[in-house]
Amino acid sequence: MKDFEFHRPKTVAEAVALLKAREGAKLLSGGQSLLPVLKLELAEPTDLISLAALTELSDIRVDGGKVIIGAGVTHDRVARSPEVAKHIPALAELASHIGDAQVRNRGTLGGSVAHADPAADYPAALVALGATIATDRRTISADDFFTGLFETALQRDEIVTAVHFPVAKRAAYVKFAHRASKYAVVGVFVAETSAGIRVAVTGAGPMVFRVPAMESALASKFSPDAIAGVQVSPDDLNSDSEASAEYRAHLVGVMAKRAVQACA
Ligand SMILES: Cc1cc2nc3c(=O)[nH]c(=O)nc-3n(C[C@H](O)[C@H](O)[C@H](O)COP(=O)(O)OP(=O)(O)OC[C@H]3O[C@@H](n4cnc5c(N)ncnc54)[C@H](O)[C@@H]3O)c2cc1C
Repeated sequence: MKDFEFHRPKTVAEAVALLKAREGAKLLSGGQSLLPVLKLELAEPTDLISLAALTELSDIRVDGGKVIIGAGVTHDRVARSPEVAKHIPALAELASHIGDAQVRNRGTLGGSVAHADPAADYPAALVALGATIATDRRTISADDFFTGLFETALQRDEIVTAVHFPVAKRAAYVKFAHRASKYAVVGVFVAETSAGIRVAVTGAGPMVFRVPAMESALASKFSPDAIAGVQVSPDDLNSDSEASAEYRAHLVGVMAKRAVQACA
């Protein structure tokens, strides 16, 4: 690992000013994705800006039909939050199956969405629920936020401050987890909100995606049988030692049916 300067700002404004002033700086949240990248020297930041002292990123609250979760909230806190469990139990359930206890105790919602790992769990929840990502300067819909493999709409000096999740009428997330890391080989989040029914898939492709054919079938009849005939094409899906593209395409159907079945 290369040397870097370490900063621990007390406000988001201070952190943004540091990012603007130092071209080679990177934000550090839970470090669960960034530290492996640094150890492998896949990134060599000149400065690390810790978000640990930013208390303004650590709230969970319910307001106007939305559950608003600060970027600095750990996966463990989401999993154990009474507010999340009451209003979007599927989200608490999702967080409880991220990695292991150590990852959940350090890793944060903001770090996960900013990193945009194609096998991460949260992107499926954000897209299926129609969430909005708040940053230090604007709001971005989840549909516009994830733009590719480890790519988002964030600017280099922009900080995710919170995610606003609409409360779902019913929702469930089911994943076929990697045997070691628990990342999603395929994960499907099905949600019905006031905006309609959405089916979002993570792990299967280079980024989270929706399955419109399943969404319209479920709008006619909300039942696992309704989507039994919907085939997802393996073209453009990931293929690796864990699962071929064809197997992932099959898993999307199986996980989606289980998620519909599990919807509260
Ligand atoms: C063994 C292991 C197993 C895992 N299993 C899973 C799993 O099953 N499911 C899953 O979804 N994830 C899994 N993860 C990833 C984990 O959820 C990470 O915590 C998460 O991806 C990154 O969050 P972090 O807070 O650790 O971010 P960091 O590692 O600190 O940062 C990640 C990236 O996001 C940037 N960043 C951080 N915070 C912000 C912010 N507020 N605004 C803008 N940019 C920011 C950083 O600069 C960096 O580029 C696993 C990780 C490990 C090590």
